[in-house]
Amino acid sequence: MTQTYPLQFKPEMKERIWGGRALEQFGLELPEGAIGEGWMIGDHPNGTTKVMNGALAGLGLDEIREKYGREYFGTKGYAENGRFPLLIKLLDCNDDLSIQVHPTDAYEGLPEGELGKTEMWYILAAEPGAKIIYGLKEGVDRAALAAAIEEGRVMDCLQEVPVEAGDAFYIPAGTVHALCAGVVVAEIQQNSDTTYRVFDYNRPGLDGKLRELHVEDSLNVTAYEGAGASRMKTDAIGDNEWLTIAESPYFIVEKGLVRAPWKLTTTPESFVILVIAEGTGSLSWDGGTQAVKAGECFLLPASLGSYELDGSMTVLRSVTP
Ligand code: ZN
Repeated sequence: MTQTYPLQFKPEMKERIWGGRALEQFGLELPEGAIGEGWMIGDHPNGTTKVMNGALAGLGLDEIREKYGREYFGTKGYAENGRFPLLIKLLDCNDDLSIQVHPTDAYEGLPEGELGKTEMWYILAAEPGAKIIYGLKEGVDRAALAAAIEEGRVMDCLQEVPVEAGDAFYIPAGTVHALCAGVVVAEIQQNSDTTYRVFDYNRPGLDGKLRELHVEDSLNVTAYEGAGASRMKTDAIGDNEWLTIAESPYFIVEKGLVRAPWKLTTTPESFVILVIAEGTGSLSWDGGTQAVKAGECFLLPASLGSYELDGSMTVLRSVTP
């Protein structure tokens, strides 16, 4: 058995029509172009990240799963023949994203092997006046949404919400949503890449053509009565304290303010994912220590045991429930 340690992965950067260069602020190396998504921890056919530190460097998360999944992912985090349950991204929304909605695991129209997508956002940075699209207006039903799409006035059906750094949004499958220009986001989601596009502002894609819309699927999967979406301000939090900012059947996400040495431990039930949202500090475990900084993400094996955070930083901690 190899000595366990926090795994850090080489991000997979994705060009998007709505992307930009903001992820450079984290010291990340970006390829040319408008980079919208950094897949930081991924085990999906559309992006598998590879370990870049320690003895397991070079192994993909899929290989880690095959070799060590049971030990590393924990009794609740390991799915037989399944993929790693979560996908962790940083998003640079330099322009508005399409209005979209994701299916639940139960949706019949899902591609083979694909899961639904419940997600959460933590706003890392927001320009003054930034907003997002978050849910339908009161009383919008399937017929009303279908008519609005047909008549090109879907924006009339949607709620706009102002955002600031530190806001957290829970977006269960079925919630119509869109990130908009001027926000940088940490996204924790089910390991899925299935998006149904409701409206794309009649904007050409990277190839100059309009991107496909998925009107029928969108109408089918939208939760018209609401799916339990919730948002919160997360600043009422003490030093070396966790605040739960999203809770779902797929992930629990907490925010912690590290201000002094903080002893923590993994449990046999689940891996721990740490996203450093702000600041700098250190991550120590039995056998090593590493300097960490904003924009870095770590997968701590369930079998790691005790670890310690220190420094001055904001950390997002995710586990499987
Ligand atoms: Zn989404």
